[in-house]
Amino acid sequence: MTTAKAQEVRKILEVKRKELMAGSSDRDEILIENAAEEFDRLQQQLNREVAIRNLDRESKLLKDVQAAINRMDDESFGICLRCDEEIPEKRLKALPWAAYCVSCQETVDRQRAAGEPVDDEGDSVELAAA
Ligand SMILES: [Zn+2]
Repeated sequence: MTTAKAQEVRKILEVKRKELMAGSSDRDEILIENAAEEFDRLQQQLNREVAIRNLDRESKLLKDVQAAINRMDDESFGICLRCDEEIPEKRLKALPWAAYCVSCQETVDRQRAAGEPVDDEGDSVELAAA
């Protein structure tokens, strides 16, 4: 990847990170309010569950984005974490925070779905580091 392209991708990642860190209005839904009506209560519970799921997804994505930025800093960006091959530029364009090439991603997804431990170094990422 050329320096110019890398800069471009970094920008995308940083914008995405900012967006995720700014959080969403979903957070408000997690507050439990006292609803007089049963229907409202159920509706709020549902909203809350959706909001929590969204937050889960967002915090996972934020972790992926931060990890990608970290990989740019240590110049391992664009290299599959699993097989050490270059991740195709086309894939990085679509998914700049991709940590794996397509075939490794499939393997990892399968392992995750099966509940197997996946060595993706994800836990070593410090969100506060940058
Ligand atoms: Zn790979």
